[in-house]
Amino acid sequence: MAKCSKCGSKAVIKVPYARMNLCERHFIEYFEGRVAATIERYGLLKEGDSVLVAVSGGKDSVALLSALAVVASELRLKVMPLHMHLGLGVYSDESLRVVKEVSRKLGMNTFILSLKGVVGAAIPELSAKSSRPPCAVCGLVKRYVLNAAAIEWGVDAVATGHHIDDLAPYALKNLLLGDMEAALKLAPVTAGEEGYLARRVRPLYEVTERECLTYAIVKGLPFVKTSCPNVFLGGMDALIRKFLYELDLRHPGVKLRFMRSLAKIAAKSLASQARVQTELTRCRYCGLPSRSEVCGFCRLTERALGSPAGPKVREALRSIRVSSR
Ligand code: SF4
Ligand code: ZN
Ligand code: ZN
Repeated sequence: MAKCSKCGSKAVIKVPYARMNLCERHFIEYFEGRVAATIERYGLLKEGDSVLVAVSGGKDSVALLSALAVVASELRLKVMPLHMHLGLGVYSDESLRVVKEVSRKLGMNTFILSLKGVVGAAIPELSAKSSRPPCAVCGLVKRYVLNAAAIEWGVDAVATGHHIDDLAPYALKNLLLGDMEAALKLAPVTAGEEGYLARRVRPLYEVTERECLTYAIVKGLPFVKTSCPNVFLGGMDALIRKFLYELDLRHPGVKLRFMRSLAKIAAKSLASQARVQTELTRCRYCGLPSRSEVCGFCRLTERALGSPAGPKVREALRSIRVSSR
């Protein structure tokens, strides 16, 4: 059994690009330090910021919340976790149970939003009635609700638990397909616009999936062990993911260098982000960003349920915030 490179006790993980084996204690220190360093390196958050954290109950978002709780005390951050119950059967019920448990453990007050409770339909129903795949509907709903919550609650940023193994395959795929704009959206930070579009940050940008899992286990954090019934791991995405995994095994750190380069290009093209945003307009129904007269969420809910649900969601978020004061 390998020994910790720092103290000589039993190692729980090998961190190839750092050329270290680490024990539980030193790995926790390493992981939290890496999240803090990522926040600093890319200027994700500053002292006194309020940050909305999307918590699904999976290992990544739970690891993010726990590491942010540590960073928060140093940076005096106000961390506001939000969980969406998406109505995906027992998977969603289990996710809610875990989120409540982890919130208790970390001493945090997590805001809960039930999609069915607010718009009258959950993901399976919205998917069936709009004839769109569940994951496309789910992605759109989550992006919309997170942005709406950030605007209603006036936070400085929205943080999501995407790690390097989520982001690098999509970045490479978009580059291979020639979609530079989509690749740049996978940067550690994307610009926002006050009262309209939330600034999004990714504090797990430089940690791997394996590190998130190990951190959640050694910290004793509860997390959902099953996958969503709609998860699909196949096609080009899976091939690229496997390729990057094998490449990084043979050349440790190559994935990180790739994502750091992407972050540099994205930082230089903040001007182009601004240009993309000027192509956005305000949705006729809910007033949030849209590429056409009606935003994707209002269009989806209007088609599936007969009326656009954006205003209802904004209203519900406003009242959650007020009732929690
Ligand atoms: Fe949503 Fe499940 Fe699809 Fe993930 S796999 S986007 S949780 S429906
Ligand atoms: Zn050690
Ligand atoms: Zn709308």
